[in-house]
Amino acid sequence: MTDPIIKFDSVGKRFGAITVLDDLDFEVANGEKVTIIGPSGSGKSTILRILMTLETISDGVVYVAGEPLWHERRGDALVPASEAHLREMRRHLGMVFQSFNLFPHMSVLRNLTEAPVRVLGLSKSEARDRARELLDMVGLADQAEKFPHQLSGGQQQRVAIARALAMRPRIMLFDEPTSALDPELVGEVQAVIRRLAEEHDLTMLLVTHEMRFAREISDRVCFIDGGRIREQGPPEELFTDPKEERTRDFLQAVL
Ligand code: ADP
Ligand code: MG
Repeated sequence: MTDPIIKFDSVGKRFGAITVLDDLDFEVANGEKVTIIGPSGSGKSTILRILMTLETISDGVVYVAGEPLWHERRGDALVPASEAHLREMRRHLGMVFQSFNLFPHMSVLRNLTEAPVRVLGLSKSEARDRARELLDMVGLADQAEKFPHQLSGGQQQRVAIARALAMRPRIMLFDEPTSALDPELVGEVQAVIRRLAEEHDLTMLLVTHEMRFAREISDRVCFIDGGRIREQGPPEELFTDPKEERTRDFLQAVL
């Protein structure tokens, strides 16, 4: 794989005595759609949170768009990242969490315009135009003036996706985006993500327990357990003909 947009190079992550990621090597190509599956507690969220700079790492190097994330280059040396470097790196990424995490006191429109105005320096009218386009894309053009508590969980999660996209990230991270939803609301959120997966340039990293959905939208599925990738491949291979016993056991338990 030439020029991955995400690269974990021998990354270790420990919380006190617990090793969550153990010498992890993991790459995602530009534009690739990758799903991470694995048992609860296996480090899936930690991988996304590290990319989002919500967690630090204990060992190794993480690269985003060719630049070290938790370090800065100074000549040939890598030194710990400054706040400014982290801020700049964060711009490459948008994240959607299990819990929708909207700003409760702001209208839907304002949820989408706040960061583009403050962080990207867009004018209010540019930010509003962009927000309306995105709300239209997630099927919520008529909900712009509502507040989050007036929306269903599925609508809130679609706003959260639009809000992340408003920052024009190159990489979208989804951490179990439908697992907090009532079953009848899962489909509308999956439909939006499915549509994004058709965008050639957008890189997507998804954690989900919805195996059928993973199969539909991913180029590659990675099974992680014990802090390492145990098996990976195209979904049709990994789901129908897993090579490792651990993968088989896991799939048998969830499918
Ligand atoms: P997953 O998303 O695969 O269920 P996580 O990445 O959330 O797993 O967590 C992996 C492991 O790291 C779990 O054992 C969890 O308890 C532990 N962990 C995660 N965050 C913290 C933290 N802030 N402090 C201590 N332990 C943590
Ligand atoms: Mg998790």
